Amino acid sequence: MASQLLRDYGFYEIETPILESTALYRRTTGEGTDIVEKEMFSFTDKSRDSVTLRPEMTPGIVRAYIEHGMLNRPHPVKLFSWGPLFRYDRPQAGRYRQFHQLDFEILGNPNPVADAEVIFLSYLICKKLGVDATVHINSIGDSESRKEYIKLLKEHYRNKRRLLCEDCKRRLTKNPLRLLDCKEPGCRELASEAPQLVDHLDEESKQHFIKVLEHLDESEVPYVLSPFIVRGLDYYNRTVFELIPTGGEEAEQDSETPVIAQDAIGGGGRYDGLIEHVGGRPTAAVGMAFGLERLLSRAKAAGTVVPKKKKPQIFLAQLGEEATKHAFLLFEKLRSAGFSLEANFAKEGLKSQLELANKAGATFAVILGQKELLDGTVIIRDMENGIQEVVDLEKIVEELKKRLKHSS
Ligand code: AMP
Repeated sequence: MASQLLRDYGFYEIETPILESTALYRRTTGEGTDIVEKEMFSFTDKSRDSVTLRPEMTPGIVRAYIEHGMLNRPHPVKLFSWGPLFRYDRPQAGRYRQFHQLDFEILGNPNPVADAEVIFLSYLICKKLGVDATVHINSIGDSESRKEYIKLLKEHYRNKRRLLCEDCKRRLTKNPLRLLDCKEPGCRELASEAPQLVDHLDEESKQHFIKVLEHLDESEVPYVLSPFIVRGLDYYNRTVFELIPTGGEEAEQDSETPVIAQDAIGGGGRYDGLIEHVGGRPTAAVGMAFGLERLLSRAKAAGTVVPKKKKPQIFLAQLGEEATKHAFLLFEKLRSAGFSLEANFAKEGLKSQLELANKAGATFAVILGQKELLDGTVIIRDMENGIQEVVDLEKIVEELKKRLKHSS
């Protein structure tokens, strides 16, 4: 469903390698981030190069965009990808060492409409899956205004270091923005009293953010401004956001501590400097990723019906060695004629194959036996009333079409 939706909106699917050079992630995701510091599965290969199992999608997509000359395509270039990711962490509910993401990116559009499109589509995917989610959004400005803000933030924490958790003590020097999204109650308390980034944005980022919010208002996307969303990665600028299940947010609001992202099902943001940083031409970009395990478990809890496998029109049963040998070709003939069909080439007895046909809900069984093969015929069995007819093997396609037309 989500892939089709993204294709309808002009996104092309891309598949990037699961193994990339460690240097790529160090350079993009960033040295002081949790992913690079603690969570990467890295090892040295036979040429003594350090490689890493992909911990996030964006760096690989950006590398592919540059290396495969996508900068010469008409812009924006809209790409999506899904697949496994690996992060070393203590396994717990909703946090796995191997998990899957659906990721989509718009490369080459600096306009706030691109941020809004990505957020709108994220919301739409949740909605179509019956998942009630709210967009928690913030702007982290450009790198200059952020530098100024970080000075103020460090000032705020100056005499409070001993009150912070061990991770935040480290963050204070390595990645101070992350102090704002720590989940520890003591740290959350301190974060709620900290100066807010949106009050210290450069003018252009401020105007950009206002326009994004106007687009969201117009497209009826429910959002809340959240000063605690900073996203942990180095490459973000301006818009950052996460999708939080609406129920989770209520639980948060009931508590006395401030609302922050606990159980995001997805998140993303703008990264205008990354492509140039990796060696491409300056290209503004924005993207997001859903955690598929979390998204699908929410969809399941909401009772969203995952489309069941469709019933086949035909079950092909074969009897005897010669018939089994011919069954591949007959299966292919029927498949390429457009019928939906199933078979189990490993089964031999008719009874067991008809049971399978019944279970699958097939309308007709086509039975190819030893005798029929010699005669150039085949049996069509109506699975509802058990009536069987022998027809010419050459005419099987027309005969089935005729019967299926009558039975529908
Ligand atoms: P991130 O790339 O960290 O922004 O993560 C985007 C989304 O991926 C999150 O909102 C989660 O839904 C999901 N996610 C991140 N890490 C994990 C993990 N270790 N296990 C399962 N899902 C994850």
